[in-house]
Amino acid sequence: MSKTPKAWAMLHAKCPRCRRGDMFEGQMYSISQNKIRQDCPNCGLYFEIEPGYFYAAMYVSYALNIAEGGALVTGTYLLTHNTTSPWLYCIVLIGGCFLLSPITFRYSRVLLLYWLSPKIHYQPYLDIDDKPANY
Ligand SMILES: [Zn+2]
Repeated sequence: MSKTPKAWAMLHAKCPRCRRGDMFEGQMYSISQNKIRQDCPNCGLYFEIEPGYFYAAMYVSYALNIAEGGALVTGTYLLTHNTTSPWLYCIVLIGGCFLLSPITFRYSRVLLLYWLSPKIHYQPYLDIDDKPANY
């Protein structure tokens, strides 16, 4: 019986407890349908473990935006060697963060539930094709 690797489950935004159920509805890259499910379709984990829990994802999202912005500005400098116009960097920064926003939204919640939620643990007995009898 093979277990789902954590990195694969995080990349595909699977439930942190069973690594099987999808955390989000809709496509991976979608601005209109980027909605987190209430609970895991496989194991029934209630994702918002406390009221307003996903407000904490704002801080993760902020950190991700800083990292994305740093990478975009560094990449722009390495490609263009521009040291005269700040507008190029402003446009790349704002446009890039806007285009990356669906990914930032998803992975801020994935990182919150996987790394910053000590109450949620991986349960290998739920990581199977057939659900246990008590579900
Ligand atoms: Zn689950």
